[in-house]
Amino acid sequence: MTTETVSAPETRAFEADVSKLLHMMVHSVYSDRDVFLRELISNAADACEKLRYEAIASPELLGDDAQLRITVTLDKEAGTLTIADNGIGMSAADMAETLGTIARSGTKAFMDKLTADKNGEGQQLIGQFGVGFYSAFMVAGNVEVVSRRAGEAEAASWSSDGSGTYTIAPVDPATAPVRGTRVTLSLLDEAKSYAERHTVERIVKAQSGHVPVPIFLEEAGSDSEASQLADGAALWTKPKSDISEDDYADFYRSVAGQFDKPALTVHYRAEGRHEYSVLTFIPETKPFDLFEPDRNGRIKLYVRRVFITDEAEILPHYLRFVRGLVDSADLPLNMSREMIQESPVLSAIQKGVSNRILSELDKLAASDADRYAAIWENFGAVLKEGLYEDYERRTQLLELTRFKTTASNGEWRSLQDYVGGLKENQTAIFYAIGPDLDRIATSPHLEGFRARGIEVLLLPDQVDNFWTTMGVDYDGKPFKSVTQGATDLSPIPLAEGSAEAANPVQDVSGFVAFAKDVLADQVSDVRISDRLTTSAVCIVAPDNAMDLQLEKILASAGRAPERAKPVLEVNARHALIAKLDQSTASEDERRDIAFLLLDEARIAEGEAPADPRVFAERLERLMTKTLG
Ligand code: ADP
Ligand code: MG
Repeated sequence: MTTETVSAPETRAFEADVSKLLHMMVHSVYSDRDVFLRELISNAADACEKLRYEAIASPELLGDDAQLRITVTLDKEAGTLTIADNGIGMSAADMAETLGTIARSGTKAFMDKLTADKNGEGQQLIGQFGVGFYSAFMVAGNVEVVSRRAGEAEAASWSSDGSGTYTIAPVDPATAPVRGTRVTLSLLDEAKSYAERHTVERIVKAQSGHVPVPIFLEEAGSDSEASQLADGAALWTKPKSDISEDDYADFYRSVAGQFDKPALTVHYRAEGRHEYSVLTFIPETKPFDLFEPDRNGRIKLYVRRVFITDEAEILPHYLRFVRGLVDSADLPLNMSREMIQESPVLSAIQKGVSNRILSELDKLAASDADRYAAIWENFGAVLKEGLYEDYERRTQLLELTRFKTTASNGEWRSLQDYVGGLKENQTAIFYAIGPDLDRIATSPHLEGFRARGIEVLLLPDQVDNFWTTMGVDYDGKPFKSVTQGATDLSPIPLAEGSAEAANPVQDVSGFVAFAKDVLADQVSDVRISDRLTTSAVCIVAPDNAMDLQLEKILASAGRAPERAKPVLEVNARHALIAKLDQSTASEDERRDIAFLLLDEARIAEGEAPADPRVFAERLERLMTKTLG
């Protein structure tokens, strides 16, 4: 950061996004404003951790004040609440840079969500989200920040009433903190209770009891000693038996910046070749920025209790919903962040923690299927990315994967469940991909599978298009798309008493040959289908070509490959097809019908007819004929 100073007060406008956010904070009523305190304390703790880290290389920054701490001061008389820390501090330029813009990507994502939200429900989201420093304006009519960066003589102030501008000014060093930052809130009338001791005690204990810096509470004008609200001890170093579920939940909220509860807590100490402690959580709800590509890992790296970085990639991308920390006993403290990323110690940690999280998920799946299903519901689409990204753990991930299927009645099924229900002579695991479950479940391609009682996995996620193309198998059975290639279902008998069994296959080879001839430019083949029982026709992707759904996705991303001509499959049990085979209608009329059937199959896939105008003409000719 820069150390540029100011010689006179300067007033500047907030960045547009900040103004929008502040406007909402100031002009709306929120159910839960307590979060502002958590946000300010978390900033103070971050500042202390940053100093602790910088002091490894420059111990003089600590001077004779090595005890890092946060002090909350109440002044009932003046109606103010002050949060002070002796952490890294900010120069005037730092303040201009960080307290007038929106830094973290999560906040941007949150803002977008608010902006997209037209019903005002988003306003309640503020309470759940926090949105950092600016949440101070939920309770304060004026906020003043006085700060001095560690190791510097100059101090500066930042102040604003939250209405569009802020002012940065030099301050007399004698009145500024020796080091660090003091944030003073002039409380709004309706927020005066935040100057009450019991209110602040309650909130700090509940929200910030586990920040890794001790927190003290003082009352202005009172003789009583400052009381300690939190001891700053590292929760992860305590024995599990001393930690309650509430302790874990509080810690989770402060380390993850989330407001929900952990759905799974993984806390252990690895010993042996490498020693490290791990405390990680899987959230109960989906974080806003799960699908932001540039989002950092959310696992903090500590070395012997000193926070080093939250940018080390400790977990693979497909575990990016996991929050928490790793504290290594072996990494050297004075190693640069870049060197750490390359270190073999870190790769051992990465491997160990990833394996452990997957095995804990596996245990949970076995011991409490409902709790596991809730995690899968939120993060399954992310975990499935591992099926193509992480070849080494693919088998393990396949065991963890859950599916909705044609047989699951909306419940989640595992592949183990699936292979347990294989039909006689069934040699593949069948799946259907589509934009959403309803659309997939009603696809004509499933008819023949239903009639035979063959279970089909319904895959609605974008990632399903990718892992399924990687030659994955399970229990020796390949995965096979119901919309691609020839399927020979005939060895698997139709369910007894099914309508199809009563509806025998007709000889329609005449029509098949005719259609193959007239549609030669549009399709790569016309053949009799095993997949259909009630629909007359469907299209499928040829063997060795790209599956239909993937083709569509690539096309919509502007990356359309040369489209393979589809195969038209016809239903030899269908009355229309049988009639066509015997029909004495003119060749032109049968031609029209062949083209119309192909377009019908396209429409059933959610596509447009090949040429809508020609399609309409054919349809009109046919209707005119019917009316005589
Ligand atoms: P975030 O903490 O997610 O970065 P905030 O809005 O809470 O977002 O804070 C914005 C920035 O302001 C911080 O990243 C930090 O650089 C700076 N900041 C806020 N409070 C302090 C503080 N007490 N000491 C030092 N820097 C601070
Ligand atoms: Mg913050």
